[in-house]
Amino acid sequence: MLLLMPSGFIILRSSKLFIQLHGKENSMLFRFIFVVLLAFFSFLSFAQIQAPPIALVIHGGAGTITRERMTDSMEVAYQQKLTEAIDAGYKILENGGAGLEAIKVAINIMEDSPLFNAGKGAVFNHEGKNELDASVMHGESKKAGAVAEVHHIKNPIDAAIAVMQNSKHVMMAGEGAEKFAKEQGIELVDTDYFYTKRRYEQLKNARNRSQQQGYNALPYQDYKYGTVGAVALDKYGNIVAGTSTGGMTNKQYGRVGDSPIIGAGTYADNETCGISATGHGEYFIRSVAAYDVSALMKYKSFAIEKAGQEVINKIEGLGGKGGLVGLDKHGNVMMTFSTEGMYRGYRKKGGETVVLIYGDN
Ligand code: ASP
Repeated sequence: MLLLMPSGFIILRSSKLFIQLHGKENSMLFRFIFVVLLAFFSFLSFAQIQAPPIALVIHGGAGTITRERMTDSMEVAYQQKLTEAIDAGYKILENGGAGLEAIKVAINIMEDSPLFNAGKGAVFNHEGKNELDASVMHGESKKAGAVAEVHHIKNPIDAAIAVMQNSKHVMMAGEGAEKFAKEQGIELVDTDYFYTKRRYEQLKNARNRSQQQGYNALPYQDYKYGTVGAVALDKYGNIVAGTSTGGMTNKQYGRVGDSPIIGAGTYADNETCGISATGHGEYFIRSVAAYDVSALMKYKSFAIEKAGQEVINKIEGLGGKGGLVGLDKHGNVMMTFSTEGMYRGYRKKGGETVVLIYGDN
């Protein structure tokens, strides 16, 4: 339509001008050429309307992310890395690639960056180990894969994808998951790879505070944040969601959060939405958060934004904080959270990359 109206106007004006300049004899030829052009532009604008929507939304964790706590250089670093992840994933969708590939690439970029609590830069558990979780779900087949409590898999989302695609199971944990990943040719690394000074300092602080206040008294912000996730809608109408995390700082041995749990941290259904969650995992598990957004859309016909808000409110009612990102089948984006901020961003067909960090932007 956008192209059709101005081109129709131009044709009419030019025909009149041509008749004035060259007389009526040649005007038939002129009109013929412009009718062909009009048909061409109409086809283009029709094709534009008909083209299926594509979209990608990501998050890099929710928490006490405020301007006061952020330096200029850190803000720029986060903006750049989030932009890089969105653009790399979106490019795949734009070139007709699959949603699964788009989320893998976007999540890998964040897993490889020490800025986020996933892969390199993951938080430490109480024993000083990095213990990683990830999951993925495909909205068409409803197939899903997850790994939990792994210590050597460089990109846990790759292992979750392998579980989904190449095993009979949905979730593998610990040594078994690592054995499977090795068989699948997925890169394993020494535990030192995940170490960052910043995260180790955070562990030391959290340990001190838990000694003073008791482990269970620590507020969510003391557990740190930075889980990563992505949801893609590809041109085939497939919605795919994935999440990868180091969990929560100072978590006790064996603790598994929501991120690798299908329905809690990740969910996808082509008919409703794809969701990736971040926040205080125990509350997201108890709320079956990601599935609940889908269920509100399916059974109550809620729009994705309303469904996401409802679930975040429910979690807050239980005493938990965090955020959700998601996409519906039309490419509508949802990014909602109850914390001060959430690293997040998206790109939709015909639009620019949008990256946001704080609660007021
Ligand atoms: N949801 C993650 C967990 O509980 C942590 C986070 O997203 O910050 O393991």
